[in-house]
Amino acid sequence: IYILALESSCDETAASVNKNGLEVLSNVVSSQVDLHKKFGGVVPEIASRKHLELLLPVIDQALEEAGIRFEDLDAVASTYGPGLVGGLLVTLTAAKTISFSLNIPLIGVNHIAGHIYANFIENPDIEKPLICLTISGGHTDLLYFENLRGYKILGRTLDDAAGEAFDKISRFLELGYPGGPAVEKAARSGDKTAIDFPRADLGDSYNFSFSGLKTSVMNYVNNEEQRGNEIDKNDLSASFQEAVVDSLASNIIKAVKEYDVKSVVLSGGVAANQRLREVISERIEKYNLDLYYPKLELCTDNAAMIGVAAYYQYLEHDFAPLSISADPALKL
Ligand code: ATP
Ligand code: MG
Ligand code: FE
Repeated sequence: IYILALESSCDETAASVNKNGLEVLSNVVSSQVDLHKKFGGVVPEIASRKHLELLLPVIDQALEEAGIRFEDLDAVASTYGPGLVGGLLVTLTAAKTISFSLNIPLIGVNHIAGHIYANFIENPDIEKPLICLTISGGHTDLLYFENLRGYKILGRTLDDAAGEAFDKISRFLELGYPGGPAVEKAARSGDKTAIDFPRADLGDSYNFSFSGLKTSVMNYVNNEEQRGNEIDKNDLSASFQEAVVDSLASNIIKAVKEYDVKSVVLSGGVAANQRLREVISERIEKYNLDLYYPKLELCTDNAAMIGVAAYYQYLEHDFAPLSISADPALKL
């Protein structure tokens, strides 16, 4: 089964061809990072226009690298939410057109499901039940999966997403864009114990909150500047990162104690963070569980993850009508 998958929900224009779900024949990602850098964030209108321009060449490249022609395809998939509506419409419209003209099924994929399914590309046999932490630019969700069809939301962020917190702090400290990798890089040469930032206390819940931490960082910088003190951005980044990682890891440990699970799975762009991977590995070691996370290029937005999710939907004949519309606020 050959599936062409398309993704443009944020600022990467991406296309892939997957064979039988987990075999990724091509995975082309054209990032617009340089275009949005000077604005310090994604400008939706610029992003959608650029997706329009890049999508056809990206599709051609994905087919060519896979050694596949349009006629060989068994289905075409596109993200249909959540994300920026202008971007979503670009791949969704392209996928509808391909579906209609080749008379093959159209599969509408939830972007967040895609992030989670990215884990199966390298590890098809992840044991369930599992705890999954999805941490990205727009989401911070802690989920319990009994099996892959049924899940329960244990907690989510009450304000900023984890990736959003990294991006805002990076912008505030003028470290660069995208924020996560920039803060991580600065943190590597900093002292993580330099500043003891508060961790949000949300009682018994599995929820997260990062806006208080963000304010603490800003207050700290403003106070130090008023006193005429030099700010060490590396120490600040390391201390901030440690606070984020600590609250993410603590909720995972709490969940692992309460739920009898076999595996813990990380997904989304923030799962690329090395310090996060390290701390979670250390802290779950004694629970005798397997920890999984996708390789770096499969953590951030890509089409291969959409193709994997689409394959499982294909097996269940979970096809979309041509009338399907983009849903910017789509829930899991
Ligand atoms: P969503 O998936 O919720 O719709 P998105 O697609 O914009 O949002 P992703 O592409 O999954 O999010 O991830 C991008 C986010 O991950 C950004 O906020 C970025 O700063 C963050 N990120 C990427 N690499 C790292 C890293 N090494 N450390 C921390 N954060 C990172
Ligand atoms: Mg992105
Ligand atoms: Fe994403």
